[in-house]
Amino acid sequence: MQALPPGSTIGILGAGQLGRMLAVAAAQLGFKCHVYSDVPGPACDVAGATTLGAYEDLAKVEAFAAQTDVVTYEFENVPVAAAAAVERIRPVRPGLKALEVAQDRLTEKRFVSGLGIPIAPFAPVEGAADFAAAIGAVGTPAIIKTRRLGYDGKGQARVEAAGDLPAAFEAIGRAPATLEALVRFACEVSVLLVRSVGGETRFYDIPVNRHEGGILRASAVPCDLPSAHQARARDIAGKLAEALDYVGVLGVEMFYAGDAPEPLLINEFAPRVHNSGHWTMDACAVGQFENHIRAVAGWPLGTTERHSDCRMTNLIGAEVAEWPQLAAEAGACLHVYGKNEARPGRKMGHVNRLKPRSDAG
Ligand code: AMP
Repeated sequence: MQALPPGSTIGILGAGQLGRMLAVAAAQLGFKCHVYSDVPGPACDVAGATTLGAYEDLAKVEAFAAQTDVVTYEFENVPVAAAAAVERIRPVRPGLKALEVAQDRLTEKRFVSGLGIPIAPFAPVEGAADFAAAIGAVGTPAIIKTRRLGYDGKGQARVEAAGDLPAAFEAIGRAPATLEALVRFACEVSVLLVRSVGGETRFYDIPVNRHEGGILRASAVPCDLPSAHQARARDIAGKLAEALDYVGVLGVEMFYAGDAPEPLLINEFAPRVHNSGHWTMDACAVGQFENHIRAVAGWPLGTTERHSDCRMTNLIGAEVAEWPQLAAEAGACLHVYGKNEARPGRKMGHVNRLKPRSDAG
């Protein structure tokens, strides 16, 4: 494919903060962005054009696609039919396969384990008839998660003992679900990679991620995993990207238990730029947003090298009110998403705290 020249239009399905930061990065390379979303969001403030419409309105989606040169998506719950409508008119990157697999936890887990990639034991739960088999396959303690539309710890319930499963299933609204074993991890890490149209793959350094209440709180680089385990994590993520014929930035979340026979288990992957990669915006010459745009536009990938140590902290809910102090803090790079209402649990911005690089480059 020929690289899209500056002046071309990149379509973005979704109007959240990830779309906003993609549009800013795209503008830096001379692209225009056109956002399609069912609700206005932070991306609309910075994109040159927005189409508001239902994802089910395929005629509108097609009309949007016709005004772009290539289309990407910034959240994994874009209805596949909408992405397929775009694809009839313009390339969609990453492709539909990544979207289809990532939207459904059961499909995702089957896909990952089908590649021989280690994952915690899991079993489907459609109704009460599945309870005994699921507990038999997975054991306890475990977590039940809705197959679809769960994020930031939503749609999940803990199952400490077999007798808890009926109430846990009730708590997630009796939605089709997966039961998965609770992993005793030392820490959580993620692999952020970018893959070009031609299949070249580059990896960012691996951050250690800390979650609170199912929401990402902080990501820090460098991590102190042994280099053999870091290489293993990259191999796993690279294999996944290849199997998906992936184009763009892929975020793969993993549980790490250094002394376990299998030290790295995939939790889930996100077919998009990822919150645990926000540190790359300030600690790398080319951050994840720019590299995603480069990949979807068919450009050469940018460097993924890190020039600084960094700790990214999310500003959640009312924490965004701390912007005056953060703006005055030395070494802190502040990013505010421009959302009007600071509801509890809502990601409002993040801060990247930089330090000179501590390990050899
Ligand atoms: P998820 O929405 O699946 O990414 O889950 C959000 C967070 O809940 C994860 O980042 C973990 O901190 C925790 N969690 C989810 N699944 C498991 C599991 N199987 N074992 C242990 N912790 C988990």
